[in-house]
Amino acid sequence: MGREVHDIFVIGGGINGCGIARDAAGRGYSVALAEMNDFASGTSSGATKLIHGGLRYLEHYEFRLVRESLMEREVLWTMAPHIIWPLRFVLPYHKGGIRPAWMIRLGLFLYDHLGGRKLLPPTAVLDLRSDPAGKPLKSLFAKAFEYSDGWVDDARMVVLNARDAADRGALVMPRTEVVSARRDDGLWVVETKNKVTGASGTHFARMLVNAAGPWVDQVIRSAFGQNEARHVRLVQGSHIVVRKKFEGPRAYFFQNPDNRIIFAIPYEEDFTLIGTTDRDFEADPKDVHISEEETTYLCNAASEYFKEPVRREDIVWTYSAIRPLFDDGASKAQEATRDYVLKLDEGHGGPLLNVFGGKLTTYRRLAEHALEKIGAAIGEKGKPWTAASHLPGGDFPPQGYETEVGKLKAGYPFLEDRHVRRLVRRYGTRSKMILGKAVKTEDLGIRFGGDLYEAEVRYLINHEWAMSADDVLWRRTKDGLRLNKEERKSLEEYMAALPARMMAG
Ligand code: FAD
Repeated sequence: MGREVHDIFVIGGGINGCGIARDAAGRGYSVALAEMNDFASGTSSGATKLIHGGLRYLEHYEFRLVRESLMEREVLWTMAPHIIWPLRFVLPYHKGGIRPAWMIRLGLFLYDHLGGRKLLPPTAVLDLRSDPAGKPLKSLFAKAFEYSDGWVDDARMVVLNARDAADRGALVMPRTEVVSARRDDGLWVVETKNKVTGASGTHFARMLVNAAGPWVDQVIRSAFGQNEARHVRLVQGSHIVVRKKFEGPRAYFFQNPDNRIIFAIPYEEDFTLIGTTDRDFEADPKDVHISEEETTYLCNAASEYFKEPVRREDIVWTYSAIRPLFDDGASKAQEATRDYVLKLDEGHGGPLLNVFGGKLTTYRRLAEHALEKIGAAIGEKGKPWTAASHLPGGDFPPQGYETEVGKLKAGYPFLEDRHVRRLVRRYGTRSKMILGKAVKTEDLGIRFGGDLYEAEVRYLINHEWAMSADDVLWRRTKDGLRLNKEERKSLEEYMAALPARMMAG
């Protein structure tokens, strides 16, 4: 039997790697992708989770990035209306604040008009003395601006791209580390190691894409042996999650005295997400965690605005991630460009595309740009197609969430409203694949806690590559916030027994 040669081998199963693999597979390329841990276990599950133009980037004159991002908001919402939805942001303002009102007005005017806004409502001015958004805030804030952006479940967006890539023929390999890659006789020879079984693998490809996020330089150094590689600046950002600080669906945009901003966002129904920070990071990205200083910073910054201060003891969860920003020599971490850079190394015998930077919001466009370079290097196949596509389960209209909830309730009247809503938010039209022929709660199997049942866990194992309790609790879902210690342990035991159970069919 002849060896299989892929057109493209992608290193990294974050949003950029999975987005490129999906786009390429959909155009008819033969694609393989290796992710050393779980999908989205790197930066792509640790974001603020906004599909946004990036109001703050206007201050750094990043007009190209802001325009492309603004245009993407409604494209992505339409592509995945289950995991992406619009969010209104309240930007409280007071005289003598960090930025003058005219500057905020100008920024929001550009934001409204730079492009792409058809469904999202425009900017408004609020009187916080009468508007409910003023209720949790200190009385100093009498006025606010309100504008639109979007929200995304980041980790789910990654796995749905991986799922769709696989459905379109890509070979998708989680828990598979690329240990070396060399050019040989016109092809890339990629050596991999499976982190679960320890098995080695050898793959051949005409082109290699390095989408290893914060590890991009590490891969260039260790896998390709280019010891001097230093293209990205690693910038840590951390978030805290506290019990719900305010009612209502709107998020807050707070300006801090150090010129930075933070968001306070309604999160997973019962919580508030507060973040983020910006600090240079030197260690291995896998060891990132929130520092004491960051925790204090976030609590203090939010407490400047909320009547009720945010205290350390209110924190129920934290997470941290590393921005792999293209190193443009900016002196401050917060000023480094947020735009992405794609570098094609034609080399002899096998082109290599390195991906630097990139946001969740721009991943689809980044993939299209990557495909232009790939086409130029190994020959064009297909045409751009993702703008008018749906991610798995997202095949319903952008404003059709309530209709989908209604349909699922009608089909499964025994389910509680909250459970139905959660399922539609996670799986959209694919919720039925989880519920199958169930006619009563007991048909969903073991209840691990909250409304996490065996039927959902099995779906995640069979269709979304979930292999550990963490995959289920912190990336495929956020049920980690709802399950207690014993409940989490019972899921861990269930997942640990997985290989035996799978072999038993
Ligand atoms: P990653 O998600 O890190 O993926 C790279 C993957 O490569 C990893 O999973 C890693 O395990 C794998 N890998 C590495 N080496 C190997 C190897 N040798 N073999 C196999 N696999 C390997 N963007 C927005 O649009 N909106 C936001 O609100 C937002 N907020 C953010 C907040 C913070 C704090 C941070 C840090 C980022 C934020 N971003 C946001 C940016 C966005 O999250 C990132 O730019 C994006 O997730 C980067 O994706 P990636 O695929 O490049 O990297």
